[in-house]
Amino acid sequence: MLNNHWQSLLEFDQQHIWHPYAKMPADIAAIGVAKTQGSIITLADGTELVDGMSSWWATLHGYNHPKIQQAMHEQIDTMPHIMFGGLTHEPAIELAKRLVKLSPAGLEKVFFVDSGSVAVEVAIKMAMQYWISKGQPEKNRLLTVKNGYHGDTFATMAVCDPVNGMHNLFSEILTDHFFAPAPQMEFNIDSNNSDINELEGLLKQNQHSIAAVIIEPIVQGAGGMRFYRPAYLKQLRQLCNQYDVLLIADEIATGFGRTGKLFACEWADISPDIMTLGKTLTGGHISLAATLATAEISQTISSGQPGILAHGPTFMANPLACRAAIANIDLLLSSPWQDNIQRIENHLRETLSPLEKLNGVADVRILGAIGVIELKRDDLGSAVQAAGIENGIWLRPFGKLVYTMPAYNIPQRQLEQLTTGIGKTIQSII
Ligand SMILES: *Cc1c(COP(=O)(O)O)cnc(C)c1O
Repeated sequence: MLNNHWQSLLEFDQQHIWHPYAKMPADIAAIGVAKTQGSIITLADGTELVDGMSSWWATLHGYNHPKIQQAMHEQIDTMPHIMFGGLTHEPAIELAKRLVKLSPAGLEKVFFVDSGSVAVEVAIKMAMQYWISKGQPEKNRLLTVKNGYHGDTFATMAVCDPVNGMHNLFSEILTDHFFAPAPQMEFNIDSNNSDINELEGLLKQNQHSIAAVIIEPIVQGAGGMRFYRPAYLKQLRQLCNQYDVLLIADEIATGFGRTGKLFACEWADISPDIMTLGKTLTGGHISLAATLATAEISQTISSGQPGILAHGPTFMANPLACRAAIANIDLLLSSPWQDNIQRIENHLRETLSPLEKLNGVADVRILGAIGVIELKRDDLGSAVQAAGIENGIWLRPFGKLVYTMPAYNIPQRQLEQLTTGIGKTIQSII
């Protein structure tokens, strides 16, 4: 039971605070959280839940990791923030060093921003400005695949899936880009790559008006939770070279190990021209994102007119966030993260795959530390969430998709609680 204090807080919340993709006032009140630790979320009424969501891909090492917290404490005491115009600091430099070293070859230039959507905005701006600087301003449209998700701001919405994104609502406003069919599903699949033919056709026909292809490598996240094979990505890289179009890889969800490689691009052994990082960058401790680019892009932009990249957020390279990201990355690299991803993948396969036999389940798919159960109905999300809580786990489905991506270091017993809970939850709902 909630005490009076919490009851009045939640009433205010419901009446005054907008939540993601929600009505105002909300039709279903948000659930109060009192605290977090590791993979445990403690609700306002004392209920403890095993976290299946990692706060939307972000908390790689669980909540309140002592190493990340310690780094943040030190940074708060010395310099929580300083403007980045004309000034610089060790946290930004040390973080950029790591990003340049770890990211696919050729990505050498780092632009820090405060959220994933803005990182994608900057990536798009870089691509457009690159062609303006080269004297080809007519190359100003993007090509992408259906079922993508790249953010909620206007430039990014325009490259989200045209059906499950917000294209209908804003059709008069959004820039018209090129959409190819999504890659055929499944990571492990033999394919003659014919699913890329339409994309190639679009490139061939429109190469003089296309600045870049933007895609989520290997895992399409919020646009459908779909996995596809590395060979597709490899071929896409070749096509971009062939038709003189830039490749933007959006690794905001996949970056830092989730799929079993440090970056999903590594599965195909490719380097994009521009790469975005976000969600996973600080281990879910504070907002930070980054856009990485090749020297070719930075040189072209800087030698064109006006010779600068025209972007500069107020909280660019916030030192507190950079310190959290450094601690997150160092922690990841010093941990047996590949073993952990394998352990989680094996366990998800063993425990979730049998759910595919259930009548209301359309598909179960697993890749790395990501498990997806696609239901046949798309209206069961809130029932699944509520049943999850009854079963001691936190799930946040969308549409037909019930999915989980636990923290890499989730203790085995909690991982078992999570998957047992998912099984019970799904069986009780469908
Ligand atoms: C979440 C996400 C974004 C947007 O990031 P925000 O921080 O929510 O703005 C962009 N691209 C991908 C692939 C994402 O998963």
